[in-house]
Amino acid sequence: MVVIMKPGFTPEQLQQAIRTMEEGGVKVMVSKGTETTILGAEGNAAGINQEKLSLLPGVERVMRVTEPYKKANRKYHPDDTLVDAGGGCLVGGKKLAVIAGPCSVESEEQIVGVARAVKEAGASALRGGAFKPRTSPYAFQGMGNDGIRLLQEARAVTGLPIVTEIMSTDNVEMFEMCVDVIQVGARNMQNFDLLKQLGKTTKPILLKRGLSSTIEEWLMSAEYIMAGGNERVILCERGIRTFETFTRNTLDLSAVLAVKQLSHLPVVVDPSHACGKAWMVEKMSLAAVAAGADGLIIEVHNDPPHALCDGAQSITPDQFAALMDKLRVLAPCVGREL
Ligand code: PEP
Ligand code: MN
Repeated sequence: MVVIMKPGFTPEQLQQAIRTMEEGGVKVMVSKGTETTILGAEGNAAGINQEKLSLLPGVERVMRVTEPYKKANRKYHPDDTLVDAGGGCLVGGKKLAVIAGPCSVESEEQIVGVARAVKEAGASALRGGAFKPRTSPYAFQGMGNDGIRLLQEARAVTGLPIVTEIMSTDNVEMFEMCVDVIQVGARNMQNFDLLKQLGKTTKPILLKRGLSSTIEEWLMSAEYIMAGGNERVILCERGIRTFETFTRNTLDLSAVLAVKQLSHLPVVVDPSHACGKAWMVEKMSLAAVAAGADGLIIEVHNDPPHALCDGAQSITPDQFAALMDKLRVLAPCVGREL
């Protein structure tokens, strides 16, 4: 249930509305937006006397909310959420956030070199995996702690905040200390223990959509993190599994529009994992921005044919710079800037 307050309500009227809701057995979230103030009921709202509440002075309207996610729901928080990833990278505002870097950290030379190149082209953050979720146990699993150290070095050189994937609850403390944005991969979107622990951290969480997850399941995973107290969630559409095999996944751009309507959280698009083909990345990036994405996360590698992971979908630094030039032209057409 949400209560929309009338413009010009008094503090006493607000307190009275909150009290009436609390008497019904719920906790109340107060969201003061630019135009409206909304009270959201957390918990079972069945005990609230809806008629009494709607007749209180200062109350404009009382609405039942049928969606199971509350904190992530736009009805509870009408204004867009802006997530500060550090180093000047804000996700969810007018400025597009472009996160770029290799699938995996491979060496100091590689990660620092790519970081410098993407920074020069105008990227807002650096990505790079150190703990990799690989389908085969025999494939490169990432550099682990050494990879995190190299990302920190690349950050020190370029000033770019670092985004990297967490796989295990064992690493939550270390990630909170060392990285700027903690990525939850598609395969861990419903690792509820991990989500609960991340809810207790203070770092922004980039939450990828699960391989075959519905929009509601994805938002419920965001809700797990937010329910723990961490409301700094960035959603990431990275393609879903369909019957189509030409592309690695099917990029669901309509999901960007859907979650922006259903939720106040920012959404970025990962065209690299969605398509699995480097030659599709530029056009799908432009399409994502045209569809209203708040940013992109793109795999960029200095030598894609020899990449230890995801070379086929990685673009080169030169291709990335060319994409950024196109985004600079497109952004103002859709009310954004780069
Ligand atoms: C990645 O970002 O390298 C990755 C493994 O992504 P996803 O979880 O979307 O497959
Ligand atoms: Mn990858």
